[in-house]
Amino acid sequence: MDQLKTGRFIASLRREAGMTQRELAERLSVSDKTVSKWECGNGLPEVSLMLPLCEILGINVNELLTGERLDAASYKEHAEENMMKLIDEKRENKRKLLLEFVVVLITLLASVTLVMVAGLAYIETWLRVTLIVIALVVMFGGILVAAVLEMTAGYFECAKCGTYFVPTKGAYLMGVHTIMHRRLKCPHCGKKSWAIRRLSQKEEE
Ligand SMILES: [Zn+2]
Repeated sequence: MDQLKTGRFIASLRREAGMTQRELAERLSVSDKTVSKWECGNGLPEVSLMLPLCEILGINVNELLTGERLDAASYKEHAEENMMKLIDEKRENKRKLLLEFVVVLITLLASVTLVMVAGLAYIETWLRVTLIVIALVVMFGGILVAAVLEMTAGYFECAKCGTYFVPTKGAYLMGVHTIMHRRLKCPHCGKKSWAIRRLSQKEEE
């Protein structure tokens, strides 16, 4: 999905129809800021708004998502492609977060078991130390894998300007975070905020 192309397409059709952003916004009961965001390629219209928007612009949803008018031949091809992309992205990101949870769980279990064996079993000191070192390595490796999985799962939404972005590795690892929020600097407005995790590309209301 090319949000920028869709955005430009919306803008050009709106102008063709002689409408201002405000007029289009009013017909859809959204703010003109929302329409402006779509047109800047900074988010797609929410699914429930796609049909009414298309009706006003005189196109179909498939053309909206593709960002151009389609003839009958390329219509079907694009239709399937667009639908799959919408579904796939969300599914893939959910899968990554689930996998992350499993990795963390296994890591914890393995490290705790190793440390317990090291602490309780009647074994030589060098073996005890070795087990603890292995436990630390497992823990560190698990956390690293989990972090990479989590980092690539979806986007973060800037709390200040609403832009969706993927943080850089460095910024991500340094960021203070809770489960759904992370302190990140937005590449669009440059402000730091508690960015919110989003599983798929922006769907603007
Ligand atoms: Zn921002």
